Amino acid sequence: MILDNSSGNPADRIQTEWHTCGSAQINTLLETSSQGLTSAQVSERRQKYGPNRLPAPPRRSTLMRLMAQFNNVLIYVLMLAALVTAALGHHVDSGVIVAVVLINALVGFFQEGKAEKAIDAVRNMLSQQAVVIRNGHRQLVAAEELVPGDIVFIQSGDRVPADLHLHKLKELNIDEALLTGESIPVIKQTEPVAAEADLGDRTNLAFSGTLVSFGQGTGTVIATGADTEIGRISTLLAEVTTLTTPLTRQLDSFARWLTGSILLIAIATMMFGYWIRGYALGDMFLAAVGLAVAAIPEGLPAIITIALAIGVQRMAKRRAIIRRLPAVETLGSVSIICSDKTGTLTRNEMTVTTVVMARCSADISGVGYNPHGTFTCHHQDLNLHNQTELQQLCRASVLCNEAQLIQKEGEWLIEGDPTEGALLVLGAKSGIDLREFPLQMPRDDLIPFESEHRFMATLHHDHEGNAVVYIKGAIEAILPRCQWQLEGDNTRPVDEAFWISQQEQIASQGKRTLALAMHHLPEAHRTLHFDDIDNNLILLGVVGIIDPPRDEAIEAVKKCHDAGIKVKMITGDHVITATAIAMQMGITESPRALTGHQIEQMTDSQLGDAVEDIDVFARASPEHKLRIVKCLQARQHVVAMTGDGVNDAPSLKRADVGTAMGVKGTEAAKEASEMVLADDNFASITYAIEEGRTVFDNITKSILFILPTNGGEALTVLAAIALGTMLPVTPAQILWVNMITAVTLALALTFEPTEPGVMKRPPRNTRNAILSPFMIWRIVFVSLLMVGGTFGLFLWERSNGTGIDTARTIAVNTLVVLEVFYLLNSRFLTRSVLNRDGILGNRYALYAIALVMLFQLLFTYLPVMQLFFHTTPITATAWGKILLVGCIVFIAVELEKKLIHRSDVDE
Ligand code: ATP
Repeated sequence: MILDNSSGNPADRIQTEWHTCGSAQINTLLETSSQGLTSAQVSERRQKYGPNRLPAPPRRSTLMRLMAQFNNVLIYVLMLAALVTAALGHHVDSGVIVAVVLINALVGFFQEGKAEKAIDAVRNMLSQQAVVIRNGHRQLVAAEELVPGDIVFIQSGDRVPADLHLHKLKELNIDEALLTGESIPVIKQTEPVAAEADLGDRTNLAFSGTLVSFGQGTGTVIATGADTEIGRISTLLAEVTTLTTPLTRQLDSFARWLTGSILLIAIATMMFGYWIRGYALGDMFLAAVGLAVAAIPEGLPAIITIALAIGVQRMAKRRAIIRRLPAVETLGSVSIICSDKTGTLTRNEMTVTTVVMARCSADISGVGYNPHGTFTCHHQDLNLHNQTELQQLCRASVLCNEAQLIQKEGEWLIEGDPTEGALLVLGAKSGIDLREFPLQMPRDDLIPFESEHRFMATLHHDHEGNAVVYIKGAIEAILPRCQWQLEGDNTRPVDEAFWISQQEQIASQGKRTLALAMHHLPEAHRTLHFDDIDNNLILLGVVGIIDPPRDEAIEAVKKCHDAGIKVKMITGDHVITATAIAMQMGITESPRALTGHQIEQMTDSQLGDAVEDIDVFARASPEHKLRIVKCLQARQHVVAMTGDGVNDAPSLKRADVGTAMGVKGTEAAKEASEMVLADDNFASITYAIEEGRTVFDNITKSILFILPTNGGEALTVLAAIALGTMLPVTPAQILWVNMITAVTLALALTFEPTEPGVMKRPPRNTRNAILSPFMIWRIVFVSLLMVGGTFGLFLWERSNGTGIDTARTIAVNTLVVLEVFYLLNSRFLTRSVLNRDGILGNRYALYAIALVMLFQLLFTYLPVMQLFFHTTPITATAWGKILLVGCIVFIAVELEKKLIHRSDVDE
């Protein structure tokens, strides 16, 4: 509980019994009021109670993380090898193997730690926010800043940010499964409940961490951080970072399979060498160990994790925040994006430009939220005093409204829903005082806007006690409820055909339309129910609101089309508005669209056929979104789907890349998503896809780089045994090469920038195997080049009488130099690197090459290294030969690219 005993505060007596209190008592106990706390009170309480944050969940301990690095089949094989080599008396070899195992584990440990940190840092960008009333004003603060006594507003889709005592609410339903395990949402109320009530029955409290599934409410913070109910039972909400993805899992099993086969081959080779070639068993064992360690790509898993983490960071820079790591690779294969319209494709900067009433219509001038503008009809200024309908419509716009218009540093801004902001501005332009007028017509009750019913209504009483309801919403929601229309001071029966044609005309210009109506109720009416506004309303008029497309979204749509990705608009807006905007943005060329109503009439297979071709879905509800995703996935599409509301959660979960809006999205939507767009902007999805494709390219490049290295080494050992010559590289030397190449050279490839044509090719097919026929070819081709170069030079040296240690030193350096050249080849998969960008374009590659060459010099000339690895100094001529072999291999791979590329083009 939050209040301490030392204060002598009356709250001490009721410690855990907030639920037995009424609102007035709570306000007294917590020294707060409906105006909220003052800034001074807030800072004093923050000092006293600390931030509203749960203690961080215990992470895997450092020791456990380090130990996990050893839990790997390859390491078991190496450790066994170290034991047997030691038993055979080869202490240096055994020492080197142990050292390599340790270094490999340490490198993996630090790299993974870095990747985890990078992902955590990105996730922390998604801090929860809360709407709070302080100093009499509504404001948005980080949920962490809340203190006891704060007055907090919650609505559907929010996670409750602290424990609250509720004092005002409208149909507030909260899902408390997290605390009570009860999956049916609890209907909240404001009356005190019995002291002995269980947690689930304390219906006048809202608990931190639970999810508002419907309605809205206001409450006083009674406990924060660890003092909340969730803090007390210490259920930890934070997700644990996992660094595995389908791809890494696929690669893990590939690596296990590879290890198994390599071990078999190694054993077979040992037997062959011992029985057929007559080598000593000890030597053969060492050769088999060499073969095994040569062939296994130890560094690959760590490299892939790093590539994914770099992708997450790059995406965050482009305002796409990844919540789950696998999304990075899925993004690369997205073939359809289903996007909302309002705010994602459009700017969500709304301005009312047209008003249609029964007897006349008006155009309204002015830009953005600046509340200055004029009303004209056929280019003539309108005299508002003669326009009863317009006056009533503007009043409805201001009263049936939850937004606020504010001026900050000379700029007019709105807080709240932009559609409502536009209506406030309309009211202000008509001369209504936005501060005074609502005070004259205080609000008693409201039915909040929900996209399910698409309208909002408020009940007001004026000073004479007259009760009037104002209602606004989609024309389909309002018109059927209207029996009358306002004409001057009179009402006449509503002319439905007239209104529908007017609204269609406005919508065909891409404007969002909203109908406004009113209704008089008996004076005693103080609460508002759906029945009160079922019929008999008086229609005041229809407004047309412009919401221009985002320029960058238009470009992004084009980019998607070039990249073989289809864009589908799924919106709650009217079908004509939606189609007009979709055509303006190049999403579709045909005016074909489906409405939610039509979707309901279709079977799954009919819908499945339709979703392939139709790009606009209007008046769609979250259930329709879910059906659309399922149909697209049934046709093997990889779908990214955007959403913001609490009811979007199922479709976001279902989509391959659920994408929530960072600004207008609810907490529920964010939690169901793989990715959050910090700026709600469609273009950011396209950037993320581009980065996703880049990550995949870089992983492919790393695999294509590492596997031939292993292949080359293994074949060298095999060839030596088969030919009955001495091993050109010892097991310890092979381990050295593997370690150096994996952790330095291959790492550089994960930093490769995006290839220019990345958004010009079709999406990757997720059902394809990791290794495509082209990759297998490249791996075999380069492995053979590596054996040819290394073994060839070794044999040449030996035939010229060079001692075994020197010949081996030359062979190892050849292998590494070949890899350095091949690293440059690998920067581009099929394009030539024989240009400035190809050689110098990735500075990490240059650093890595410099570092590796330094290591090789130490390896060759440092006495300790000479002791461990049996290396000897080599001459400048030898280096010249090594470089020559490197150049030949480099050119051979470039030639191969040219041929392959040519055949690509020929196809
Ligand atoms: P999306 O974001 O999915 O593209 P949307 O934001 O246009 O769609 P909704 O917010 O569900 O969709 O709005 C649907 C319709 O409800 C709008 O066309 C409008 O007529 C009406 N509407 C929107 N906002 C309000 C509001 N605050 N009050 C009353 N009616 C509203």
